Amino acid sequence: MNTSALASTTYLLDLANVKKSFRTPDRKERTVLEGVDFRLAEGEIVALLGKSGSGKSTLLRIMAGLTRANGGQVLYRGEEMTGPARGISMVFQSFALFPWLTVQENVELGLEALGVDAIEREERAQDAIEMIGLGGFESAYPKELSGGMRQRVGFARALVMRPDVMLLDEPFSALDVLTSETLRADLLELWDERRIPTKGILLVSHNIEEAVSMADRVLVFSSDPGRVRAEIPINLPRPRDTESAAFRQIVDEVYGLMTSHGRQAAGIDQLTIGYRLPATTPSKLVEMLETIADQPFDGRADLPALAEVTELPDDALFHIYDGLRVLGFARLAEGDIFLTPGGRALVDAENDHRKAIFAEHLLQTIPLATHIKRVLDERPKHNAPEERFLQELQDYLTGDEAERVLEVMVDWGRYAEVFDYDYNSGMLHLPEDDEDDGDDDSMERSGDDGHVQGADSPSP
Ligand code: ADP
Ligand code: MG
Repeated sequence: MNTSALASTTYLLDLANVKKSFRTPDRKERTVLEGVDFRLAEGEIVALLGKSGSGKSTLLRIMAGLTRANGGQVLYRGEEMTGPARGISMVFQSFALFPWLTVQENVELGLEALGVDAIEREERAQDAIEMIGLGGFESAYPKELSGGMRQRVGFARALVMRPDVMLLDEPFSALDVLTSETLRADLLELWDERRIPTKGILLVSHNIEEAVSMADRVLVFSSDPGRVRAEIPINLPRPRDTESAAFRQIVDEVYGLMTSHGRQAAGIDQLTIGYRLPATTPSKLVEMLETIADQPFDGRADLPALAEVTELPDDALFHIYDGLRVLGFARLAEGDIFLTPGGRALVDAENDHRKAIFAEHLLQTIPLATHIKRVLDERPKHNAPEERFLQELQDYLTGDEAERVLEVMVDWGRYAEVFDYDYNSGMLHLPEDDEDDGDDDSMERSGDDGHVQGADSPSP
């Protein structure tokens, strides 16, 4: 869309310098969004891509008037947002349907709240149901529908409000590839043929192809705190040919932006102990290094090509890329990933030596690993309760995220044989030497450190 011509018009949504922080359970402030600038113009579909936990859903809730920002300005059609805005509808990843209501009743629900009378409710719901391809399923219950059909109900529920703006929070991510493709195409058809009154759509996605196939602009969102980091306009007519050179080039460009972190992309970062370690395992990291080292890539791979070869979803890939990047095994530039000398050395090494190389990189690049190792080295019994580290992490992260990060850290540390973790006692400790005569160590009886639930202990 030609937004430059709209300079004097009012934006549908206009956010300036928006900030949002939450209080953690120990009463610390954690800033989730900071300095977010965003505008949605009439006639646009904008896609927002970002890592999970970067604050995308929070941002949508602010735009819908469901949550207040702590700072900055949020305007809907030029007016300050004071509460839920009537013209704005959301669609969620989890379909959030009421199981005891029929399709028709689920769709009518929002109209009831607006005080629309029964006859008009029924008519409007019928229209919305028909429009999104659910005709004939009015009296079905959600449990009788496939995932794709349920999400159609989710869309019908938004469309029945005749929304001015639609905010879509990963509405296609829970669906299989084909189902999500069809639903996307149906929605785009309604939009492009102007069969819905909606004037602007914001789509949150973690799928690059999805974003590039739908949006007029793609925004890349950063984490900690979340803000809009980059923007790519897409001036291709819809429906888009996902195999065309122009399409592939934009996908490449977005891949490049998603995986570069400004100056960090140049090499190893200065991380804090609170760095959100990516949700991936040493074996996945090593496997990816092998794939990049092998033919046809020979040490340097085009990211979309690598995605195709590995058949992994984008978010899984980004966790792996991020792991390789922070550990200094690979670098990312211009939509490619390539091995560093360290990454090459690891691939070339025998299994045991691989662990040693991994350990060396771990202790050089990941401050949390270094910190844990130092604490364990210093303590007379060479152990410490996980709770201690969880508390330190909560200066940076929420409780759940702190647990997740420590779980990843333990997984990496165990592989590297830098430290170990006892699931029964919840203690981290230095790896035992070979003369170790069993696993019921005396520390379990020492009783000086509280037992804490294992972050990934086998119990439910
Ligand atoms: P995304 O949608 O990008 O995955 P979210 O907006 O859901 O991210 O969450 C961003 C961060 O804000 C997360 O760390 C989450 O735990 C935190 N958060 C979201 N809502 C709340 C809340 N109501 N209270 C405290 N923390 C929250
Ligand atoms: Mg979300």
